[in-house]
Amino acid sequence: MTSRYDILFQPIKLGPVTAPNRFYQVPHCNGFGWRMPNGMAAMRGMKAEGGWGVVCTEETEIHHTSDLSPYFEGRIWSDDDISAWQLMTEAVHKHGALAGIELTYNSHDASNLYSRAAAFGPRSMGVTGGGGYEPGQTRAASKEDLKQVRKWHRAAAIRAKRAGFDIVYCYVAHGMTLAFHLLSKDNDRADEYGGSLENRTRFMRELIEDTKDAVGDKCAVAVRFAVDELLGTDGIQYDGEARDIVSMLADLPDLWDVNISAWKNDSITSRFGKEGHQEKYISFVKQLTTKPVVGVGRYTSPDSMVSAIERGVMDLIGAARPSIADPFLPTKIKENRHEDIRECIGCNICVTGDTRFVPIRCTQNPTMGEEWRRDWHPEIIAPKKKDDEILIVGAGPAGLEAARALGQRGYKVILTDAKREAGGRVLLESQLPNLIEWRRVIDWRLTQLNKLENVFFYPSSKMTAQDVLESGEPNVIIATGSTWRRDGVGRQLSRPVPGEAKIFTPDDLMESGGLPPELRELAPGLHILIYDDDHYYMGGVLAELLATNGCKVTLVTPAPTISAWTEYTLERDRIYKRLLDLNVTLLPFHALASLSATAVTVAHTITNTETVLPCDAVVMVTERIPNDALYHDLKPALADGRLKSLRLIGDAEAPNIIAQAVFSGHLAAREFGEVIDPDVTPFKVER
Ligand code: ADP
Ligand code: SF4
Repeated sequence: MTSRYDILFQPIKLGPVTAPNRFYQVPHCNGFGWRMPNGMAAMRGMKAEGGWGVVCTEETEIHHTSDLSPYFEGRIWSDDDISAWQLMTEAVHKHGALAGIELTYNSHDASNLYSRAAAFGPRSMGVTGGGGYEPGQTRAASKEDLKQVRKWHRAAAIRAKRAGFDIVYCYVAHGMTLAFHLLSKDNDRADEYGGSLENRTRFMRELIEDTKDAVGDKCAVAVRFAVDELLGTDGIQYDGEARDIVSMLADLPDLWDVNISAWKNDSITSRFGKEGHQEKYISFVKQLTTKPVVGVGRYTSPDSMVSAIERGVMDLIGAARPSIADPFLPTKIKENRHEDIRECIGCNICVTGDTRFVPIRCTQNPTMGEEWRRDWHPEIIAPKKKDDEILIVGAGPAGLEAARALGQRGYKVILTDAKREAGGRVLLESQLPNLIEWRRVIDWRLTQLNKLENVFFYPSSKMTAQDVLESGEPNVIIATGSTWRRDGVGRQLSRPVPGEAKIFTPDDLMESGGLPPELRELAPGLHILIYDDDHYYMGGVLAELLATNGCKVTLVTPAPTISAWTEYTLERDRIYKRLLDLNVTLLPFHALASLSATAVTVAHTITNTETVLPCDAVVMVTERIPNDALYHDLKPALADGRLKSLRLIGDAEAPNIIAQAVFSGHLAAREFGEVIDPDVTPFKVER
């Protein structure tokens, strides 16, 4: 039977190799890097198993003078690195997919903190990699240096071919590579690599020609090129020089992998950009080359994918995040199980694997990063060993995932929630400005639960310990979430803030759909102070909500920056811009000192200097209190044998991000019925 989606499964020729379909996992960082090759290889292999026709590495350093520490990326410095890469190419080839490697020689993005070498730049310029503000500078690469880099790139390409890679990249994107910086405003050279566009493109052309010459017989040579930096005339522009560059090199590479720079633009979160957000920038490329083009845009809808191909925007559907949230996305489309696609929510928790130097994790896919060390598979889970029934109290992300995974194992599951609708915090948070895609965490799980005849959901059922015991269910999982504190206690203040004021918490605002009724009419002109000692999205997103409702908002935080942790999800700059555009007053380095009905006194965290701010109401975004009373009420029943098992999960155990609640629910399902030895590390460790 033919289908509208068949086009996605057509093989595509890439130079000397052929991709089995149009699903292309573009290079993406993962926090494993060279340090944990087994974890990395198993994760990549899972994508191939799930149907991705091409699976690529992350950026891979070709030489010690391009050392990206403290980040853990790929390394192919010498022949000694080949065997680690073979783990990946074998894992990918096993499922009939092609393996691609993104060779990179960085410029001032290489901090060289480990190698202690001087990085090469188009000129001597400040290092921007590493922590962002490393105090070193690059040396200006001489012509001799550029020759060396070409030699190293060529040698790395030959090693990559020996390691079994089918596609070898020349990486000219993300404002991170030497080739990109030679193209850009950073290049003020007077030699044949500076000046005219033809000169500035010389190094990029040479890298492509060298790579084709070195490995082009067996490997496709791809170019990853950022066609716009969203810097206006200060950067490369899709309707400017990028066009000329693609025209000049049109059919030289075997594949154009095109995107926008910097990484924060390429991997924009759903709060700021939607599916297909790059089309405007990249769609010109196909008109200038006869070679295949791959692009990204967080495509999770099969219809959008088909449309992007039919409209001539791209030939292959590139994906990092959709392949992380659902390694089996292609298989599900092939089997016409579109409703089973675990759609990426665009939160960038996956990115924090790289930016926090830990193995990748994902909000939607709790098995991501756990393929090797815990032997977790995103689609397969061990069936139950014997019949058993489990009552789960609380249908937030933790309870929903526990119910889904236990149901998949074949257990009978009773899931209850006090509310009329499932979803817990996600239900509330997804109604905040521009977070609607987060609802996918609930939607996917409810769709799966509806398919499981052994899982029963009872909404509007608030449970007490007596209710639980009267239900007669022998195994109980408590997933009752957490409640935002009201007293200001948090990382900065260990005692409640003195004084009286009208105080609201994020729960109050979310449960009243934005503004509590008593404030709604007063909103225009109302002074609201948000005290953010949480540092992730909540403070900023509530400031946005209140400001758009006409309040005069001051966002106070003890941290040196607003929404500090969003640096790691690549969102911080956009949050700043949005809040400044909304005239929100931003006050970092300040903590609450005291409250009154009309004013709040804040103190500078370094100098203790106090400032009095007019304020009609305070919103406390500090810590959350775990809702664990039910668990503690039930503990005696576990001790005296009325319950067989009792487990506390998610925010009720330890408040954290949504990804951790989902993980916690999944872990509880995997571990159900197992004897867990707390003295033994429950996963394999790469040493
Ligand atoms: P998590 O992030 O850990 O999943 P949430 O706060 O998102 O936690 O969800 C907890 C859910 O538990 C909420 O939907 C809440 O209504 C529900 N809940 C809390 N206490 C009870 C209770 N005693 N009985 C039933 N449901 C409860
Ligand atoms: Fe998508 Fe968030 Fe998962 Fe990343 S962590 S793949 S953005 S759902």
